[in-house]
Formats: sequence, structure tokens, C-alpha cells
Amino acid sequence: MKKTKKEKPYKSLLSNFLWASKMQLKYAPLGFIIRILGIPVEVALNYCSIYLPALIVKQAVSGNAFYDIALAIGSFFIIQMLLSQLKEGFMVRYTEAEDKKFNFSILYLINERSFTRTYEEYEKKETRDLRQRAKNSCFYDNGAADFSKRVTYMLQYILSYVLFGGIIASFSPWMLPVIMVEPILSLIFLRVFQKWAHKHREYESNLASKLGYAEEQPDDFAAGKDIRVYGMSGWLTNIYYSLVKEMNAWERKKSSKRFLSSLSSLVVILFRDSLAYAFLIGMAINKQITVDEFVLYFAAISQFASFFGGILNTWGGLHASSLRVCDVRKYIDTDVTEACGDKKADEHMLSAPEIEFDNVSYRYDGSDDYVLKNVSLKFKAGESLALVGLNGAGKTTLVKLLCGLYKPTSGQIRINGIPSDSFALKEYYRLFSPVFQDSKTAFFTIAETVSGDLNGNYDAPRVENCLRRAGLGNKLDTLPKGINTVLDKQVDSEGTAFSGGEVQKLMMARALYKDAPILVLDEPTAALDPIAESKIYEEYQSMTKGKTSLFISHRLASTRFCDRVVYMENGEITEIGTHEELLSAGGEYSHLYEMQSCWYRDDYGKEENV
Ligand code: ADP
Repeated sequence: MKKTKKEKPYKSLLSNFLWASKMQLKYAPLGFIIRILGIPVEVALNYCSIYLPALIVKQAVSGNAFYDIALAIGSFFIIQMLLSQLKEGFMVRYTEAEDKKFNFSILYLINERSFTRTYEEYEKKETRDLRQRAKNSCFYDNGAADFSKRVTYMLQYILSYVLFGGIIASFSPWMLPVIMVEPILSLIFLRVFQKWAHKHREYESNLASKLGYAEEQPDDFAAGKDIRVYGMSGWLTNIYYSLVKEMNAWERKKSSKRFLSSLSSLVVILFRDSLAYAFLIGMAINKQITVDEFVLYFAAISQFASFFGGILNTWGGLHASSLRVCDVRKYIDTDVTEACGDKKADEHMLSAPEIEFDNVSYRYDGSDDYVLKNVSLKFKAGESLALVGLNGAGKTTLVKLLCGLYKPTSGQIRINGIPSDSFALKEYYRLFSPVFQDSKTAFFTIAETVSGDLNGNYDAPRVENCLRRAGLGNKLDTLPKGINTVLDKQVDSEGTAFSGGEVQKLMMARALYKDAPILVLDEPTAALDPIAESKIYEEYQSMTKGKTSLFISHRLASTRFCDRVVYMENGEITEIGTHEELLSAGGEYSHLYEMQSCWYRDDYGKEENV
């Protein structure tokens, strides 16, 4: 069988160690410092744990006065208690809180990177999978903080190992290699398990994503209606349970592999202990060591092996942790600005720009078919274009390309003659005031949503004016907190929940407030009532004044307000001209217009009944 080439980790263990330390110092410095200080405390506690029993035996057979024995044992006991309290009561508590803070900071970085990624890249399955793996890294074991935790363990083990190794070597140096065989074998068993788990991590994260998705459905209000009315709950529950079953089977399989690995280690430990203790007992019988030395060495042997095992295990764990850090770094390292230019938008912000689609084609990632095919289209400066076509014609894809959310697979989009990819992405977005079909509100106030400003530096009268122009005046008058009302009832009891049409108006107000030189409206009236719709049409001329605009609508009468109409079919422009020109051309546009308008005519159907 052909051996597959081993995948090289994204970053080395050392690089990940430096990165994790830098991040921890940045986001949770207290935890980092406490961890470093905890190393000598842990080593001292380890020593106390083997020395105290030996001390008690030594004092018991010493023949000293009771007071001296009690003082020697008592003071040692107090030191051990103090160290233990320092570790458990202070260090562990603080590092746990700091670890949580650190993990959430890394999660925040991941989320931030999700937003700075191009939309196109964000939609790709491989990006979503990587994001899921990076997110898992923040919660698996001890999350991203796991790495520094293991490094600290490693240092504790190494120091304790040297100390205990010294104790054992002082009475029998050859004992050291005998004890060391066990952890090496145990590590080999563990590595076999870890390699197997790593090989299947994609399957595991895929399964976790599916389960997470199914588990979120009951929380989704939008889906909740359809689920109830269309009786989909049983169907969803079945999917959920079959995924839970699959996850259980997977966990069982993983546990039995892990159990097999620990069972093999246990057998080797039994063998090691029998050998070492037989040797010690032999020495004690031959009076080569005293009783308290016997107790000390006896404890030192089992502890020494556990430290050596700890070093090897932690080394394996560090590799697993390092791979998880790789997933996080791989996700957050991708800098989208690399793929874009550095041009600023300023000079194009003042007046309506000219837009040109030059032979633009587009294919979605993973698909062989082109959704847009050689589209060439010129918007004159200040021109208002209507884009019309059946479902799936490619209109929304064209809008996303225009707004910079996707990059053409081939061809070029130019703004005032400048290729779209010459702009810095953030600058390019400044050129557009889009209203998308499926916008959602978040738990911000109305004013924050409309202005996009969370620092309170918005122009309140202008926010209100835009809301009224978009048809939300009446709604605003009913809200006691006006534009300061939070758009979520779950988070704020005084908040409000907007209907679909009201959200659409709100998004229109947001576009008006942004006042960018290019206005893009993708079916902005689909959810509006006739009064609100006609208000938008009335406003349309003033909204598009001094701007270049694109208007998608299935209400063909609304395209009359535009300078030209573009008709698309199967990703191609098949008709273009004024509304009247297209009607008289008698093509597909006029056919659709006729079909739609007949329902509004009073005489519809009467002729046939005569
Ligand atoms: P329209 O807005 O004209 O209804 P769209 O631009 O939304 O059309 O879709 C055009 C075609 O592209 C459709 O066949 C649709 O299935 C496909 N499509 C849309 N979005 C995606 C996507 N994210 N991934 C793959 N195919 C897509």
C-alpha cells in the first residue's frame, strides 16, 4: 500500500510555545506569572510528599524526646500545609480564572478574523471546517491555555525528576534505567492512541459541527415557526438522535482505544514495581539501608517513574496541544488585506462614480458551473440601473461581486476606471450603501444599528431623519426610548422586536445614513406593505440623487424609476434598455411585465367570460 506523506504541522512546537507565551502575557499576564511561580512550589510539595513519611519513621526510631519529635514533624507538616494552601487556595484558583480569560480572548481573535476574512473565503467549507477546529481548540481540554499549562508541567517534572533521580542514584544508579523503561513503553502506547485520534480529528470535528447545528435549531426563532407548522420536529429530533448515536459510538471507540493504551502501560508498571521493590526489600534485609531510607527510596522510586512518565506524556501532550495551536494560528494568521490593494476610497466618495463590469464570470467554490458568464455592463456616473431576472438568474451574486464580497473568477470590475481589487477592502466597502435581502439585527440600539457607531458619536437628528424617510416614523413614535431602544427583547426587557418589513426599513435607513456614493438595493421592498412600498418609490429619486445605483426587484413596475433596465437569464445579460424600450422590444422582460401587470387590471379575465 502506498504510504501517504506525513503532513507537516503549520508551525513548530517552539514557535507555538513562543506564540502561546506571548499571547498569554498579553491577555492573561497574571496567570502566566502565577504559573511560573508555581513551579518551585510544586517541586517542593513533591519532595515533601516523599520526605514526610521517611521523617516520621526516622523520628519514631530515633529515641528523641517527644517534644523534639513533635516539633520536627509538626514544623515540616506546617510547611507542607502552607505550600499546599498556596498552591490550591491561591494559584490554582487564579490560574483557572485566568485560563478562562485567555481562552475567551483567543476565541475573540478567531471571531475577529472571521469578520475580517473576505466573505467569499468565509463561505468556503474548508474555512468553516478550520474555524470549527480552531474554536474546538479553545474548549478542548484546557483550551488554548493548555499549551502553557503543559509547559509548566514539563518544567515541574524535569526539576522533580533531577531531584528524585539524585536521591535514587545516591543508593543505586543502575535502578534509574530500569525504572525509565516503563514510561518509555507507556509513551509509545499513548502515542499510538494519539496518532489514531489525530488522524480522525476531521471526522470528529465534522460530527461536532453537525451536532452543534442540530442542537441549535430549537433556539432559532426563524426556523421554529416552520419546524412547528410543517411538523418537522420529529424529523429534526431523529436527525439529532442519530447524530448523538454516532457521537456515542465514536466516543466508545475512542475510549476503548484509550483503555487499551492504559492497560498496556499498567502491565509494564506492575513489572517495574515488582522488580524495584524486590531489590529494595533485599537491601533492607541485608541491612544495606535503614528503615527510614527504605521508606524514602521506596516512595522516590514510584514518584521518579511518574515524573519521567510525566515528562514523556507531557511531551506527547505538548505535541497534541501544539497541533491545536496550529489550527488556531492557521485561522487567525490569514490576513485578507494581502489579497487586496491599498488604494483609498476618498476621492471617489464625493460624487457618483462610474462602474464597469468587464467580461466578468463567476463560479462558486467547489462548483464547475459558472453562475455569471462574461457579464459586461457599464453604469454611467449617477445612473440608476434596475436588475431583473427569474430566481437563480445570478442577480444576488452580481450584487455580492459589485460590493466586493466576492472576487470575479475572471474579468474585472472597475470603479471610475480603477480595478476593484486595487482598493484596500475596507476602503472599497466605504463606497457602498447596500440593502441586502436577508439582513439581521443584533442586540444594539436602533441608533447604533443605523449609524454603525457604538461609541455614541452618531448624529442623532440624522439617524431619526433617515428612519422617517425609510418609513419608520410611526414605529419610532411608539417607542418610549426612541432611537435608543435595543433591537432585542431577549437581552433587554425594554427592547423591541422588529417585523420582517420593519427590519427591511431599518436597513434602508442604515443605507441612507451611510450615504455612500453607490446605492445597492436587493429586493428592498419584498417584505413591505403597499403603503411602505410606495413611500420607498416616492423617496427613490431623492435617495439616488447624486449616486450611482443598482435596484433589484421582482415588482417590474418599480423599474420605471430607473434610467435603464438590465434583464438577466442564466447568468447572462440578455436584454438592456429603458423600461419602454424593453417593453416595445417584446422580449422576455415585456413578457414578464405583461404577466405581472394583468393581475392589477380591472378587466382581467372579463374578456374570456363574455
Ligand atoms: P438570484 O439572486 O438571481 O435569484 P443568485 O445569484 O442568488 O440568483 O444565485 C444564482 C445561482 O447561484 C443559483 O443557481 C444558486 O443556486 C447559486 N448559488 C447562490 N449562492 C451560492 C453559494 N453560496 N454556493 C453555491 N451556489 C450558490
